[in-house]
Amino acid sequence: MKIESRLAQIGSLEDPATGGVSFPVYHSTAFRHPRLGQSTGFDYARSKSPTRAVLEAAAAELEKGDAGFACSTGMAALQTIFAMFKQGDHLLVSLDLYGGTYRLLEQIMSRFGVTASYVDTNDLDGLESLSTPNTKAVLIETPTNPLMMVTDIGKVAAWAKSRGYLTIVDNTLLTPFFQRPIELGADIVIHSATKYLGGHNDVLAGLIVTKGEEVSAEIAFLHNSIGAVLGPQDSWLLMRGMKTLALRMERHQFNATRVAEWLQTNPAVETVYYPGLADHPGHDVQSKQSSGNTGILSFKMKDARTIEPILRHVKLIAFAESLGGVESLMTYPAVQTHADIPLEIRNAVGVDDRLLRFSVGIEHIDDIIADLGQAIQSAEKEVSSL
Ligand SMILES: *Cc1c(COP(=O)(O)O)cnc(C)c1O
Repeated sequence: MKIESRLAQIGSLEDPATGGVSFPVYHSTAFRHPRLGQSTGFDYARSKSPTRAVLEAAAAELEKGDAGFACSTGMAALQTIFAMFKQGDHLLVSLDLYGGTYRLLEQIMSRFGVTASYVDTNDLDGLESLSTPNTKAVLIETPTNPLMMVTDIGKVAAWAKSRGYLTIVDNTLLTPFFQRPIELGADIVIHSATKYLGGHNDVLAGLIVTKGEEVSAEIAFLHNSIGAVLGPQDSWLLMRGMKTLALRMERHQFNATRVAEWLQTNPAVETVYYPGLADHPGHDVQSKQSSGNTGILSFKMKDARTIEPILRHVKLIAFAESLGGVESLMTYPAVQTHADIPLEIRNAVGVDDRLLRFSVGIEHIDDIIADLGQAIQSAEKEVSSL
């Protein structure tokens, strides 16, 4: 079955009791045992819950893994994965990382003696030179956010495997509709399902998909033991969102490509970061390993003074954090999503005070470009009269 069909039909065949095409929300936390030593398959909802189970099976299938785990947020999913590591363990992590992941590693995992080195994960020599006898895993974001750096997942996963390291990929920005890291050699995929999978800026959720018996059993143990699981109502909301993922991703990609091309022609803009553009350094790898491009792009203005007025003048586009929803959102990474990353690291990778990140929604492209155009024009007018 093609992925579009699988997505549209999530939960549609799983309720034989009524034939409901929308799977019901089971709120029960406790389940009757038929007899001593017998179970319906459900005992206590933290361990396994019917609505969540349908979502988890769909996630595993979509990402081509063996098991899926739904967590309360993307951060809860990452925390569950990081709990695999113990004092002294070391991780190799993509340099231009989601700020919350960096904070979790540097301010919380560090308390437990788990350390991380930040590196351009596309550079095998760099990965090699930062490896230690205690290295256990490589954590990749591709493309990264906000700078849209692309990592060759297959190349890194093969290298990691040869060293006995796990490969973990944060697939939030592309979703399994466009990119399936497990097919490229990854062991674990993580999602902030709050973003494209949910897709409507109305549900917080995280997903983990694992490949391999040992890793799957370990994450199942941690998921149940830590307990940061997704509730039934949110599981249902997430499935409801995922049914339209294919349509949404196609429109996000279409709109983001048009916006990127338009921004490239705007004289007030210095650089546009979007792997869908042919001159993007990650374009070829991205085209090889993914069947499409995300709806996120970033752009650097020539003049930092235009940033504040642009964010004040956008109307259709909301000045808000987060990404991946049907509504267009624009954010200022240096002071918002990436504020927890030290200034030296931010400046070294280029997340500076002239950079804006744009999560292009599914509104009509003409309205999006008109709004962006008027905001930039108004900002330039204000700056030139200073
Ligand atoms: C948002 C995000 C997270 C964190 O997910 P939450 O659902 O907000 O906890 C992790 N990784 C990436 C790439 C994200 O965009």
